[in-house]
Amino acid sequence: MFEKIELAPADPILGLNEAFRNDDRPTKVNLGVGVYKDNDGRTPVLNCVKQAEARILASQTSKGYLAIDGHPEYRAMVQSLLLGASHPVLAEQRSRAVQAPGGTGALRIAADFVASQTPVKRVWISDPSWANHRQIFETAGLEVHTYRYYDAANKTLNFDGMLADLDALGPQDMVVLHGCCHNPTGVDPDLAQWQTLAACAKQQGWLPLFDFAYQGFAVGVEEDAAGLRHFAETVSELLVANSFSKNFGLYNERIGALTLIAANGEAADKALSQIKRVVRANYSNPPSHGAEVVATILADAELRALWLDELAQMRERIQGMRSALVEGLSSAGVAGDFGFIQRQNGMFSFSGLNGEQVAKLKQDHGIYIVGSGRINVAGLTGHNLDAVIAAIKAVSE
Ligand code: PMP
Repeated sequence: MFEKIELAPADPILGLNEAFRNDDRPTKVNLGVGVYKDNDGRTPVLNCVKQAEARILASQTSKGYLAIDGHPEYRAMVQSLLLGASHPVLAEQRSRAVQAPGGTGALRIAADFVASQTPVKRVWISDPSWANHRQIFETAGLEVHTYRYYDAANKTLNFDGMLADLDALGPQDMVVLHGCCHNPTGVDPDLAQWQTLAACAKQQGWLPLFDFAYQGFAVGVEEDAAGLRHFAETVSELLVANSFSKNFGLYNERIGALTLIAANGEAADKALSQIKRVVRANYSNPPSHGAEVVATILADAELRALWLDELAQMRERIQGMRSALVEGLSSAGVAGDFGFIQRQNGMFSFSGLNGEQVAKLKQDHGIYIVGSGRINVAGLTGHNLDAVIAAIKAVSE
């Protein structure tokens, strides 16, 4: 049975970690996978998480199963965090959330649900997009296509191209939109553009799926949700796959959610019942710890304030590294205008480095970035910045 199976190619992003681990150069730098690091290169457990965990440890009395759709308070809190507590959709009780094992798990549940229960046949992802999107949707049996997104020459959003592509779609199409901090480009629509996109979705009848993995990493938790919140006021049906891996630093707890908005409460309940079937057939019910942590923090004014503060610190450190990288590249005399790095949102910078340069960074300098030229700015620190700038200079000449 197994002898003829071929070796699968290494994952384009997670595979880099393996190569990095096997590199014994002490000066190596990992700017591949999207994980936040502090200035000492550590991925810390947030203080708000530590405090919530202490409370959970002291008060937990059972390890009984959660429900198929997860932790009840968590599900309620996710919806108000995404939509804002006073959003009309919440007042109208048209949304339902299911706890999911990370943002990836939420996307996969969405894919299985949409493939089995809706007329959607094709999924449209941005060009470029997060490397895992294509295989998640293809594995669920959906056709995957791309819409124009990034204008590489100007390092901006190709909004006209994007709109023209989405304007040609209809009810058999689902469009994956990055809620903020687009991965890998860091280029997001502005509010006026979100409004135009929402009007397009409404008119054409395509189903929006927001992939929201970085809420709070661009400007702030409320500001970053503006596009999603406007969409939710404009169209009657949408899906959101969100992740708390980054904004709570809960990477290995696998915690996220799939939220569905329907035209009315009855339709939402029926759809939820089908989403629960997908969960039951995949992993039965979710693990509890990450949901307990997030729910404990969001329910407590003091812990919530601490979280927002720690999230702001992560965001500001990354923004500081963006400025330092831009300044460093220009004072090192690297040709080109790198101002775009400062205009990009979130953890990543789409550097414009080509495949050959990426390979040289790895081989000659022990600096690991994704093949597309995506740099995890959140991996830059005061200790490695100069070496990274010198290496970029070396491969750019
Ligand atoms: N979507 C995007 C755009 C992402 O960047 C990520 C994380 N790299 C995810 C989804 C998945 O998040 P998680 O690790 O919670 O599965």
